[in-house]
Amino acid sequence: MTAPVLEATDVVKVLGSGAGEVHALKGVSLSLAPGELMLLMGPSGSGKTTLLSVLGCILTPTAGTVRVGGHSTAGASPEDLAKLRRDHVGFVFQSYHLFPTLTALDNVRLALDVRGEPAASAIAKAKGALATVGLAHKVRAYPRELSGGEQQRVAIARAIVGNARVILADEPTAALDGENGHAIMELLTRIAKDPSRSVLVVTHDPRTVPFADRIVHIEDGRIVGETRPATERAAEERSKEAIAQDERARAERGKIEPAAEEHISTELASADPIAEAPAEDVHPADERPAEVIPVVPVNTRRKRKQMQR
Ligand code: ADP
Ligand code: MG
Repeated sequence: MTAPVLEATDVVKVLGSGAGEVHALKGVSLSLAPGELMLLMGPSGSGKTTLLSVLGCILTPTAGTVRVGGHSTAGASPEDLAKLRRDHVGFVFQSYHLFPTLTALDNVRLALDVRGEPAASAIAKAKGALATVGLAHKVRAYPRELSGGEQQRVAIARAIVGNARVILADEPTAALDGENGHAIMELLTRIAKDPSRSVLVVTHDPRTVPFADRIVHIEDGRIVGETRPATERAAEERSKEAIAQDERARAERGKIEPAAEEHISTELASADPIAEAPAEDVHPADERPAEVIPVVPVNTRRKRKQMQR
C-alpha cells in the first residue's frame, strides 16, 4: 500500500483554558492517501476546522501524533512546523484570504517569495498555477475585480503553486453559488487526480458528495463513520458491465445453432484452456445460477472497452 501523505493518530485537541476549556478533538485517527479526495463532513462546532488546523500544522495536538509527508510533527519547533507547512501543505479558505492590494499574480507568487524563490521563476510558476485554474487571462486583476468563484481559483492557485502534496480546504464552496461551487469542486477533483497530491475538503455542502473518493463524518470531536461513494460507484459500474457482458454472451449464443453449440462445448471441454478463447464467451450462460454475477478478468474487460471505443 502507498504511504499516506497525511496521517493523524489518536489526536486530541483542547482549546481555551480554565472554565472555557473545550475538548475540540477527542481522539481522531485519519489518513489521506496520495491521489485521494476526501470530504470531512459534520455539523457546526464538531471540530472540522480544528482538525484541519492540526493536520495542516497550524495547531499542535494536545495528544496524539500527526505525520505530514512522512515527517512527524512530534516535538517540532514552531520553525519546523512552519517549514513542514510551507513544503507540504496548501490551504484554501471559505473567505479566500487574498490580499486586496495585490494582483492575482502577486497573491499567488507571494507563496513562493516567502520561500526565497528567485523572482523570474516565481512569476513563471505563479502564471502556470493561474493557468491551471483557468485564470491565465486574469493575472493582472485585483481581487475586487474578480467574482467569488474567480477569487477562490486564485486561492487554489496559491495553494498549489509551491507543489504542496496536501491541499486542505475549509468550506471552499460555502460562499459560492451552485455553478461556481461546482466548478471549484471539479477543479479540486482534478488536482486530486495527480497521484502525488491529495485534497481534504471540509464541508457540509451536500453538493460536494459526488466528487469524493471518501467521506469521513465527524461529530463532537470524534469520527463517527466513513463512506466511499466513488468506490461504491466503481463497484456498481463493474457489476453493471458484467451483467451487460453476460447479456451480450446470451445474445451471441442465441445466434449459434444448437447442434453447432454442442459441438463447440464438447471441443472446448477437451481443449487446452489456454490455447482457446476465453471460456465466458461461449459458456452457456443459462447454466449459471441467476444471482451469480460473472467475474470477468480486468484485462479482458479493459481490452473490450478499448475495442468498443
Ligand atoms: P467546526 O469547524 O466543525 O464548526 P471548530 O473546529 O471550529 O468546529 O470548533 C470545535 C469546537 O471548539 C467548538 O465547540 C468551538 O466553539 C470550539 N472552539 C473553536 N475555537 C476555539 C478557541 N479558540 N477557544 C475555545 N474554543 C474554541
Ligand atoms: Mg469550521
